[in-house]
Amino acid sequence: MDEQPHNSSQLSAPLDEQDANKLLLQYLLLHRGACDEDQLLKALKTLEETDRNDNEWQSRLNKWMARVNLTLNALDYKVTRLRNRYGGWSYVYVDLAPAEDTKAATRLSLDELNFVQWAIQRFLGEKRAVEVEGSKSLIEDAVDVIFGEKFDSSDFQGLQLRLYHTCGSGELCQYEEMDAVKVENLLARLCQLRWFYETSHGRFGLGVRALAELQTYIRDRYNVLECTVCDELALEGVQCQCNEKAWHVACLRHFLAHVGTACPNCNSSLEQAVYMT
Ligand SMILES: [Zn+2]
Ligand SMILES: [Zn+2]
Repeated sequence: MDEQPHNSSQLSAPLDEQDANKLLLQYLLLHRGACDEDQLLKALKTLEETDRNDNEWQSRLNKWMARVNLTLNALDYKVTRLRNRYGGWSYVYVDLAPAEDTKAATRLSLDELNFVQWAIQRFLGEKRAVEVEGSKSLIEDAVDVIFGEKFDSSDFQGLQLRLYHTCGSGELCQYEEMDAVKVENLLARLCQLRWFYETSHGRFGLGVRALAELQTYIRDRYNVLECTVCDELALEGVQCQCNEKAWHVACLRHFLAHVGTACPNCNSSLEQAVYMT
């Protein structure tokens, strides 16, 4: 399937802004309604062969989002921008229809949504941090690189504790309302739709679509920390042992470089922090 935006050099006339706006929205929808910012910027640059610097491209993308939302809001949809698991930005096309039972009804059945809610309880319910054992996740490796840059990497041996916001498929297959084969198939589909993602260790976590569509649900029901730097929900990265402060990976780098190395709440060193993975 050809998912590339049209190359404007193949068109007879250059695209006007409205056409480019429409095509960029189609591009987002072709990617199941969820794209990372870099991906969208690249598509926009292909559509509009104009010279702009990074800031200008960024504001062009912001303008695109504002424009398409003017139209989409009337239809109870919108494009929203939120932090992804590494702390970069993602854009997600979401359904604003207020009734919980009609939400996302075209994509997930009620049974499937019940499973999603059950799985969220497994991801985000009360948990204790555990000793770090075995190989590390990509998030933990990325955190180690950032701490290694800040602290002497020969001294920094990694954090001691991890808090899981992900589950293995074995745990998720214990859902009693569906047999294991059905759960496995549903997990694969949820990952395709970017409701969930699967780590290289075969663990599952909440993807950007779930965070976008179920943001209020998650904030109301679960004690999930907001990132100290960007104020968005932080499920992956690090948190302080005081359970008050958390950082996305990208935001941790910013914090260590520009703010400090201690928790703003309890003042303990971030070298004592806990991985969230
Ligand atoms: Zn953040
Ligand atoms: Zn603290």
